[in-house]
This record gives sequence, C-alpha cells and structure tokens, in this order.
Amino acid sequence: MKAGVNDELCRGHGVCVAVCPEVFWLTDDGYAEAQDGDVAPEHEAGVREAIEACPERAITAG
Ligand code: SF4
Repeated sequence: MKAGVNDELCRGHGVCVAVCPEVFWLTDDGYAEAQDGDVAPEHEAGVREAIEACPERAITAG
C-alpha cells in the first residue's frame, strides 16, 4: 500500500496525523503529507482509519 494526500482537498485538520503519525505529518504550511513508498504492513490499518476519519476525504491509498 502507498498513501497520499490530495493537496487541493486537504484543509490541515490534522486528524490523519493524530490517527497515524507513523505515515502522516503536517508541513510548515499546515497541510498534511504522507510518506513516500510502501506503507509498512503494521501501519496499513492506521492509514485505512485515517482515510475514514479525514473530514475532507483527502487521503488516497492503493
Ligand atoms: S485529516 Fe484530511 S484534511 Fe485533515 S490534515 Fe489530514 S489529510 Fe488533510
């Protein structure tokens, strides 16, 4: 699994960071980014939880 954040949708609530800080963080601009490359298997559930929790539906994974 790879995770991403749609810049145009993200509003910087930080819910994703609270749910899965191993994969998501907020930049100095206040918007989220996701790690490059494959998400470690033990963090995939956290990514799925973040997808569900994001109020803007800005997180993608595949
Ligand atoms: S929860 Fe969604 S809108 Fe909020 S910072 Fe994360 S990706 Fe952006």
